Amino acid sequence: MKLIMQIAAFVTIIIFVSVTLVFAHKISQDKFTLNPQISQECRNNSSVPCPNPTTLGNTPFIPDQQLDNQQRFLSTIANKISTIPPFDTFEYIILRAYGTAFINQEQGITLPQKVILDNESETQSFQDTISMALVDGTQECYLQKTAVEALNKARMLANISLKSGYSGDCLRSFATNLRFWNKYTNSETLAQVKAGKETKILGLVAPPGTSQHLWGLAIDLQVSTPAQRQVLNQNGWFQTIINDLPHWTYLGWSEDDLPKFGLQQKIVQGIKYWVAPI
Ligand SMILES: [Zn+2]
Repeated sequence: MKLIMQIAAFVTIIIFVSVTLVFAHKISQDKFTLNPQISQECRNNSSVPCPNPTTLGNTPFIPDQQLDNQQRFLSTIANKISTIPPFDTFEYIILRAYGTAFINQEQGITLPQKVILDNESETQSFQDTISMALVDGTQECYLQKTAVEALNKARMLANISLKSGYSGDCLRSFATNLRFWNKYTNSETLAQVKAGKETKILGLVAPPGTSQHLWGLAIDLQVSTPAQRQVLNQNGWFQTIINDLPHWTYLGWSEDDLPKFGLQQKIVQGIKYWVAPI
């Protein structure tokens, strides 16, 4: 009987130690996966404030509200892209035009680690990493799943149609982005955009590899009433590209939160846009 008791005690101790070890290992793994990569830019550049590691992980990063708008925006996106492009480079111009989507910090939302996707294979590799879903009532309109869920909610509350009804309203390939660009521009336009001499075109069509539609976080809609706009805003969707009226971007925050990340409100021809402050 004593022997049985001793064996039982021994087995109990072994089980206890095993469970403790497995649990401790899991915690250290979780810590590792939750610890985000602090960007190179933040380490190298003292003008970009480093995020506080203890506030990262599942908790969204909210920049220090003492910072100005530009610093708030840049410190937020420093968590997302590996290097903040130098001022007035092509990448910086694109970040200014389309970079608002990088404030999205929802679980399940994936952003590329750079502002410009260089070619079809880089675009495809990025798109392979995202979790997609079909917008309700469509045959081929794909977006990131979390963005779709928010859009479906908005469309249940207000009748909102897609712009054309074709897949080009939603997730696009690099080739589609390029085709649209070639349709509206000539052989000089890209060089003019890169030199900072042409910005208006960015409200009509995105240069190759730069569209928010490549990220699955934008959709072109037919929106005409304040009620439709309100319901989209209440579900995290905003107009962010000046003069691109049908274009909506999924930011995933309530409107009250947008200024915390430095986003600025601009009213152009009666339409409210939220734009990057850079
Ligand atoms: Zn669009």
